[in-house]
Order: sequence, then C-alpha cells, then structure tokens
Amino acid sequence: MVRDFISLIFPQNCINCQQSLISEEKYLCTGCKIDLPLTNDYQNESNDLFAKFSFESKVKTANAFLYFHQRGVTQKLLHQLKYNRKKDIGVVLGSWFAPQLANLEIDFIVPVPLHRSKLRKRTFNQSEQIASGISEELNVEVKHQLVKRIIATKTQTRKSKVERWENMENVYSEIKEDISNTSALVVDDVITTGATTGMLCQRLVEAGVGQIHIACIARGK
Ligand SMILES: [Zn+2]
Repeated sequence: MVRDFISLIFPQNCINCQQSLISEEKYLCTGCKIDLPLTNDYQNESNDLFAKFSFESKVKTANAFLYFHQRGVTQKLLHQLKYNRKKDIGVVLGSWFAPQLANLEIDFIVPVPLHRSKLRKRTFNQSEQIASGISEELNVEVKHQLVKRIIATKTQTRKSKVERWENMENVYSEIKEDISNTSALVVDDVITTGATTGMLCQRLVEAGVGQIHIACIARGK
C-alpha cells in the first residue's frame, strides 16, 4: 500500500512514451525497450565506430549499444542520466548492453574519467555507472583509479580535427600501474569524434596494454 501511495505521488512512467510502468520494467516500457535503436555493432567488427580507432592496432573491437538521434529515446535516457541525476539509468543501460560484450576477453573495465570540476558539478561519473552495470553482468572488475582526467578542455567544435587531436594530448594522466598484456574494456557514454577516447587508449598503450575493446552507449549514425 505504501508503494502504491508513493507511485501515486511519483508515478513511474516510461521515459520515452510516459505510459506507466509495470513492476519488472525499468525506465522504459516493454514496447519502447523493444524499439530501442540498436546499432548491433557487435555483429559487425568493421562498423563505423571501429573505423574511428582503426589507426590504433591495439584496439580490437568497438561497439556502441544505441544510435543517438536528436529528441530520440537514446537522448532522453542519457539526458535523464546526466542532467537529471538518475544515476541508476547508467547501471541499467550497462546491464542491457552487457550481453553484447559477453564474448570479449576482458581483464578489467576502464570508465572514461571526468575532470574533477565536472565531477563536482554533476556529482557522479555517468561512464562509471554504465561500467558498473556491465561489471555486474560480466563479473569483471572496474578500475576506477587507473587514470585521471587532468585537463578539462572546453568545447572544441570550432577546431579542426587535427587541432582537436593535438589539444587532447595531455588530457589524461599517465598510467603508473603495470597493465602489460592485459585486455581492457574502455567504457564511455557517447562517442562522437572519438578524440578523447582515443587519447585514453593511447595512455593504455603506453602502459603496455595487450588489447583494447571500446564500448559506448551511443553514437551517431
Ligand atoms: Zn514507452
């Protein structure tokens, strides 16, 4: 009765279509979950996301879970996660994504870190939430402190691709831990240019990583 009363005050509705949710549904109703814009990148090794990282030979696979469209369901989910502080959405998205990553050999997960100024503003790192959902499903550890973001870069939309890459050079701290010959899964929320994720990969390579897999919740078409 208490629960019914609470759900009357705070109705649990589908983030996409507003229909009220039944007990097993999380954030999306069953219909909207079935209609998620899946990329199925995991079934296509030479997908568009992987192409962004093909210059780095240690990167073996790259998979996005969903396509990102303006005003689409992916944007709604990520907006609730990042700006409405619905932390748990990250974990849920990670757990939905995890089965697509189950065939990869992974020793640990590295969530793309946020700079501390952004972390203070947002209170949590959305990539860590996603990583923890994947970690629970696949039973792989998350290395939270492996690497830090040491430069909070401003938006770079006006810069050329080359300038963007140069600007990224020292965004992440050097990795002190010996990770030679390990296999890392880098987890991000959205990948657009791939520049920041690429820089993180470079740090992993410098530290001797054997192979890298990249996973993000969303990418453009
Ligand atoms: Zn719905």
